[in-house]
Amino acid sequence: MDIIAVKNYLKSLNLPDFRAKQIIKNYFSGHYSDFASMSDLPLALRTDLDNKYPLLSVTESNLLKSTDSQKVALKLHDGLYIESVLMDYGDWLTACISTQVGCPLGCTFCATGKMGLKRNLTIEEIVDQIIYWNIKLFPKYVGRLVFMGMGEPFLNWDNLIEALKIINDKNYLNIGSRKISISSAGIVPKIIEFANLNTEINLALSLHSADQKVRQQLMPIAKQYSLAELKKALDFYTHKTNRQVMLEYILIDNQNDQPEDIKLLKEFIGNNFLFHINIIPLNPVKGGLIPSTHQKEFVDGLDKAGIPFTIRRSVGRSINSACGQLIINNNQ
Ligand code: SAH
Ligand code: SF4
Repeated sequence: MDIIAVKNYLKSLNLPDFRAKQIIKNYFSGHYSDFASMSDLPLALRTDLDNKYPLLSVTESNLLKSTDSQKVALKLHDGLYIESVLMDYGDWLTACISTQVGCPLGCTFCATGKMGLKRNLTIEEIVDQIIYWNIKLFPKYVGRLVFMGMGEPFLNWDNLIEALKIINDKNYLNIGSRKISISSAGIVPKIIEFANLNTEINLALSLHSADQKVRQQLMPIAKQYSLAELKKALDFYTHKTNRQVMLEYILIDNQNDQPEDIKLLKEFIGNNFLFHINIIPLNPVKGGLIPSTHQKEFVDGLDKAGIPFTIRRSVGRSINSACGQLIINNNQ
C-alpha cells in the first residue's frame, strides 16, 4: 500500500487522525487482503478506498508449493511479473524478497541474470511481497527476510533503504535488523554507504571466486569493481560495523573448486576474522554450468586452511525456487 498517498487522501477527507492509524495497523496485520474486509471501518470509506487504491501493489498469479518452500509469481501494476519465495526452516519462516524485475548484472550461473533488467521495484512492491506472505500465512507471519530474490538490491538503493525503514519500524512491519540479510554481487560504493549506515542488518557478498579472471567470467560486474577494491570495501565494512560478512561461494565444477582456489581465498580473507564462507551448491539453470564434483575435497581444504565456513542447505529445487532459479518471461 502506498502509505503516504492513502494518508494524504484521508487528510483531504478531513477524517480524524485515528482512521489513518487504524488503516495502517490493519494493512500491516496481514489479516486483510482488501479494504472491503476491514469491518472496523465505516462501509462508505471501505468502498471508497477500495475503488481508489489497491491494498496490495502485487497480485498472486501462480503459487507453487513443495515440502519446504513456496514460490509465487506476482503480477505488478504494469503487467510485469516477479517471483518471491517463502522458506520453511521448521522454527521460523523466511521470505526471499526481490528488489528488481530481472537483473542487469548477467552472472552466468543465474537464471534472473538472463532476463536483463526490466525495472526497479517500488517501495510498495518490495514491502508488499512480505504482506502478501503474511496474508497467506495468517496468523503465522514472516519472521526473517533475505534480499536474495530477483535483482541486485544495491542497484535499487533508494527504494531498498525506504522499504527497510518500513520493515524495521515498530509501528509498521516490526522485523528487527538482525533478522534481515541483504546479498550483493559487490557494488563497491554502496558497500561503503551501507557500512556508514551502521545498521545491524546482515551483509552477504556473492564472491564465488577469489581469482580476478575467473570472477570476471562468472560475474561481469567484477570488471567494474576488482577483487582488490572489493576487499578494501569489505574490510572497511567489518572495521566500521564489527559485523560478520557472509562470503557466498557457489561451487562450480573445475572453475572455482580447486586447491589453488582455496589458496586465493585464504589470501583474500587475509587477517579479517569477520569473513565467513557460505558454500552454496550450484542449482541447475538452463544451459548452465556443472555443479562441483569436488565439494568434499574443497571443504576439507577449507578446514585445513583454517577458513571458517558453512554449507547452505538448499531448499525448493523441486519447484525451481532455489537460489538463482527465479526467472519470469515478462514478454508474454
Ligand atoms: N543479486 C544479489 C542477490 C540475489 S542472488 C547477489 O547476486 O548477491 C542471491 C544468491 O544466489 C547470490 O549469492 C547468487 O550468487 C546466488 N545464485 C545465483 N544463481 C545461483 C545458482 N544457479 N545456484 C546457486 N546459487 C545461485
Ligand atoms: Fe543479478 Fe545476483 Fe543473479 Fe548476478 S546472481 S545476475 S547479481 S540476481
